[in-house]
Amino acid sequence: MKPAPFTHHAPTTVDEALALLAQLDNAKVLAGGQSLVPVLNMRLATPDHLVDINRLADLARIEVDADRVRVGAIVRHAALERDEAAHRALPLLRQGLGWVAHPAIRNRGTTVGSIAHADPSGEMPSILAITGGSVRVASTRGERVISADHFFVGPMESVLEHDELVLDVDFPLFPAGTVTGFDELARRSGDYALSGVAVAITPAADGTIAAARASFVSVTERPDVLDLTPQLAGLRPDQVGTDVLATVAEAARTHVDPVDDIHASADYRRHLSGTICRRVTSSLLAELANPSAPTAVPSAEKKVAS
Ligand SMILES: Cc1cc2nc3c(=O)[nH]c(=O)nc-3n(C[C@H](O)[C@H](O)[C@H](O)COP(=O)(O)OP(=O)(O)OC[C@H]3O[C@@H](n4cnc5c(N)ncnc54)[C@H](O)[C@@H]3O)c2cc1C
Repeated sequence: MKPAPFTHHAPTTVDEALALLAQLDNAKVLAGGQSLVPVLNMRLATPDHLVDINRLADLARIEVDADRVRVGAIVRHAALERDEAAHRALPLLRQGLGWVAHPAIRNRGTTVGSIAHADPSGEMPSILAITGGSVRVASTRGERVISADHFFVGPMESVLEHDELVLDVDFPLFPAGTVTGFDELARRSGDYALSGVAVAITPAADGTIAAARASFVSVTERPDVLDLTPQLAGLRPDQVGTDVLATVAEAARTHVDPVDDIHASADYRRHLSGTICRRVTSSLLAELANPSAPTAVPSAEKKVAS
């Protein structure tokens, strides 16, 4: 199918884009188009105007500083995935981005577009959630910064108003020494996950576990965070046995709320979520106990956040 007719606008400054969004009725922002264009082609949305933000050079930056990675609205998934400074600061970005669709889609699709789209099957909304990140949005009425916790409302639903543009998102860095991992299962490589899990474990100065958290892909209504600290706090990584890992898996199974669809039953997705969460946690604990040992989950890249 072809999209319904629309008028294409190509502003070259943020102010121009915001003025267009304020003036035009039934307008949508166009970033990489990797989610929006299929929706238009299927006529699930029929906007009269597209405000194309791809010429807004100010929004093409990746900034890394002592406490966060800031990603501008037209930074492609692939650019963020390749960015060495962002990777060193927050390895979980690359760990998750490698699972986003195929390279061709990552070359065009933007990380901010994925977050604005608020699809709970997207990896990056989940990573924004587990880092406790935030979204900076602007309109002709001014700017506001919204925490991930408040930004995502439900499937494909955020608090973004029709005249608001996301300028950038901030991914805060984890405390030093935190290890992170991401793993997921899809029916085919590059497909949306049946279930995906990000885990972050932070050690205390004495080597015991201080905090642990997980976030999920495709199995919750909105990206949110499961606190695994009650299961793991105070334990030494090499003392965590199968009994404790079973409680981690059970916490994950209880937390998620998947639905049946043509790809998998809700029960299977729930089971998968527990299994992946346990495996990633176990692998990270092994890494904390012995950083030079080979990892137990070869498909998930795991690095120490500095
Ligand atoms: C075959 C296929 C497989 C895919 N698989 C995956 C996958 O496994 N995991 C995954 O996470 N994603 C997947 N995607 C989606 C991909 O990651 C998209 O790039 C991403 O979801 C949206 O980014 P975009 O830049 O393409 O946004 P667009 O498609 O341009 O926009 C998406 C939505 O966000 C809004 N929007 C975009 N940017 C802004 C902004 N700055 N301010 C306000 N609103 C904005 C648009 O108006 C639109 O409603 C897949 C896509 C395809 C086509």
